This record gives sequence, structure tokens and C-alpha cells, in this order.
Amino acid sequence: MKVYIMTDLEGVGGVVKQDLQTVSINPEYYRACEYLVEEVNAAVAGAFDAGATEVMVSDSHWQGFNIRMDLLDSRAACVTGSGRPSWMVGLEGFDAVVCIGLHAMSGTEGAVLDHTWDPDGWNNLWINGKLSGEFGLIAYMAGHYNIPVIFASGDDKLCLEAKTLVNSITVVETKKGLCRESAICYPLKQVRLKIKEGVFNALKNIKNVKTLKLESPVEMIVEYKNTRIVDGIKIINGRKLLNSKKIEYKGKDVTECFNLLF
Ligand SMILES: [Zn+2]
Repeated sequence: MKVYIMTDLEGVGGVVKQDLQTVSINPEYYRACEYLVEEVNAAVAGAFDAGATEVMVSDSHWQGFNIRMDLLDSRAACVTGSGRPSWMVGLEGFDAVVCIGLHAMSGTEGAVLDHTWDPDGWNNLWINGKLSGEFGLIAYMAGHYNIPVIFASGDDKLCLEAKTLVNSITVVETKKGLCRESAICYPLKQVRLKIKEGVFNALKNIKNVKTLKLESPVEMIVEYKNTRIVDGIKIINGRKLLNSKKIEYKGKDVTECFNLLF
């Protein structure tokens, strides 16, 4: 059994402040990265305990360079760095996707560091008419390769978002969001134990988890924060300007549509 672990930073236990903890200009960022690798290691351990034969981690926050290799469980491979050929590199052929440190979609009330893709550039994303966040994008991308997303951890709002889309998914709350930059953080060691148990149980429950499939063609609408961003996007085949802030992207499947976004 091959397990793919998709990671972000904003949903990790103990992380609440955008500038202080999620960009590398402050010592607190490096501490946040240590919190991240601890949660990833818990997920890796849970996966191997449940019978995984291969685990690959995708370091996907910001420039994709947040996980310290010397601290990562030595049984796991890791996709790291920026400019990678696709968002979820090497996903095809895996049996399950696990999400660590994810955040709720842009505009979610009471969510910690909610955003969709670009917190400064994007307001909203709809996928085939449904308002979606990054969790949705991951789930549909995995679904394209017939892979279920079996586990997600993040704040309580992310967990609700994940359960709404994939009702038999296993979730672990790392914190209860109070507002954008504040949360009640649960004890980090307990959270990591729950992640390890949760991933273990999720893999044992894999047959009951629905794989999400999108009807073809796939249509994504992005509502941007301002007209300047939209003005800078070339309207080529597959892109349609809906109004001064919204562009519709259309492809035969989720990967083709996703590639039109950038
Ligand atoms: Zn992030």
C-alpha cells in the first residue's frame, strides 16, 4: 500500500500567525516547521503501522521548502522545493492520500489563516459550480487518479470542510479556530498521537471512503481580489473573462483545468 502525504503549514497545531509563523523571515517560522515535521512523522508512523509499504510526503506550503530532511522519518521520501512539474508530483499509482496541516477555504468564519491558494490574490474558487478550497482541489485531483483522500488534519473548520466533502474521511482537529489569527491549540503531543492513530484507522477503513470524481468537462471559476490581477491574465483557449474580477477556466478533466490556472 502506497500512501501520499500532502502537507501545508497553516493547519498545523500551534500555528496561528501568518507573518510570524508562515513566512521565513522570523525565527517563529522555523519553530512552526518543526511542529509541521512532528505531525508529518506521526502520519508516516501511522501509515507504516497500518501496513504501508511506501510513503511519499509532498511539502506544499509556500515555496515547498518547509520540511527539514534531517528531522523527517527516514522511511519517507519527500517532494521538496519550488518549480516542480505539477502540484501533486508523482501522485499516480498511490493508494491513499493523507492531508496534514491544511486550512479552511477563503472566507470561512472563525477559521485560522483561511485562504484559497493565494491569500493576497484570490477571493473564491468554484469547481463545477461548488465553492471549494484547497482540500477540495486535492480531493478532486486525487479522484482523477482513482485515489481516495482518507485523512485530514487542521483546525475545526478545515475538519468540517473535509467531512462535508468526503463524509467517511477520518479527521483530527489540531486547534479550535477563534478568528483568523487566534485559536485554542490542543496539546501538541496529544494531537500528534491522534494523527498517528487517525492515519492508522483511516488506512484500515480505506474501503469505506468515497473517491471523488468530477464530471467532464471540468470548470473552475476564480474570483480575484482586484482587477489588476485579472488584467494581467492572458485570455487564451480554455479561459473566459466573466467580469472584471472573475475568470472561468475549462478543461476536459481536473488536471487540464488546473494547468490553465497558472
Ligand atoms: Zn500554506
